[in-house]
Amino acid sequence: MNGKRALITGYRGQDGAYLSRLLLEKGYQVYGADRAGDSGQWRLRELGIEGRVQELPLDLLETSNIIDALEKARPDEIYNFAAQSFVLVSFAQPVLTAEVNAVGVARLLEAMRKAAPEARFFQASTAELFGSTGSAQKNETTDFHPKSPYAVSKLYAHWLTVNYRQAQGMYACNGILFNHESPLRGEEFLTRKITMAAARITKGLQEKVAVGNLDALRDWGYAKEYVDAMWRILQQPEPDDYILATGEVHSVREFIGTAFAAAGLGLRWEGSGLQEKGVDQDGKVRVEVSKEFYRPADVKELIGDASKAERVLGWKARTKFGDLAAMMVDSEIRRMEGKKVEL
Ligand code: NAP
Repeated sequence: MNGKRALITGYRGQDGAYLSRLLLEKGYQVYGADRAGDSGQWRLRELGIEGRVQELPLDLLETSNIIDALEKARPDEIYNFAAQSFVLVSFAQPVLTAEVNAVGVARLLEAMRKAAPEARFFQASTAELFGSTGSAQKNETTDFHPKSPYAVSKLYAHWLTVNYRQAQGMYACNGILFNHESPLRGEEFLTRKITMAAARITKGLQEKVAVGNLDALRDWGYAKEYVDAMWRILQQPEPDDYILATGEVHSVREFIGTAFAAAGLGLRWEGSGLQEKGVDQDGKVRVEVSKEFYRPADVKELIGDASKAERVLGWKARTKFGDLAAMMVDSEIRRMEGKKVEL
């Protein structure tokens, strides 16, 4: 034990689970706070840390349980991952998204100011804040133009975190996170949906998969590396905000092609727009485009410049796009064969 205590909200999500393991390895006493239910328990199981995190009930909609969690955990560091994190859902549930992602962070920061003012605070901010700010690499000084209720809610939380740092003198930081994926990604997210489909199609368990905008361009990294950067952010002498990104951009179409190739399915693309299809070697349609998965307003391209993180934190994204897609497909196949997944 290193004597330090950390509170992670949303700890059974992708990032929370990876960070829990990292902090346990570093000798922290880890308190994990999440809503009732066990939707993410499988992640702790696969990481081999089930039962090693002290569990606390927490819903960001409710102030009293936030204060309880802070009083029980008495944390040196707080990582806030709890969120309605699915961009498409935010268009259908903008009010809930704001309550959790925006006002929820106000509840948390205010509770912290009263109950744990010396704790260090990390907010999971997002590249979605940049929205439609051109196609250049985004850095910590780029303007924000959010294009979804999710991004707008996260913008409030972002600036509130900056404000508690400036106005209240609290140690509060934002990690402006570009997409980061892993075998622990939720099944509703695009990359996981694709890698699952690729594995299931090779095993004859699924015919095809429907997706949204194939032209969206994203900067995709490996979540396990990103949580290491988040920890480093809270170890600096002064609180600050950092972009975490790979600096490489690829389209959704490329991700699908790479993942399917890793599963042994060579795809060619036919048609365009909503009629575009991914067809395999045998002429079978394996990928279709569906309007259902289009965002009402989409962000064309997101690419990040993480040179500040490299300079100050000594952090750089290492895992390459192709290796990430292949690792995720391999994990799906291993799970289906009842084998242990490398995480
Ligand atoms: P995730 O897997 O969706 O995890 C989110 C966690 O928040 C889940 O454990 C979820 O619990 C919990 N949660 C939802 N509503 C809550 C509420 N009202 N009160 C308390 N907990 C609640 O997300 P992730 O990929 O680990 O991402 C972590 C954070 O980084 C999120 O804030 C996300 O918005 C942000 N982020 C992620 C990415 C990325 O590429 N992964 C990029 C930018 C920013 P349930 O299982 O009960 O829903």
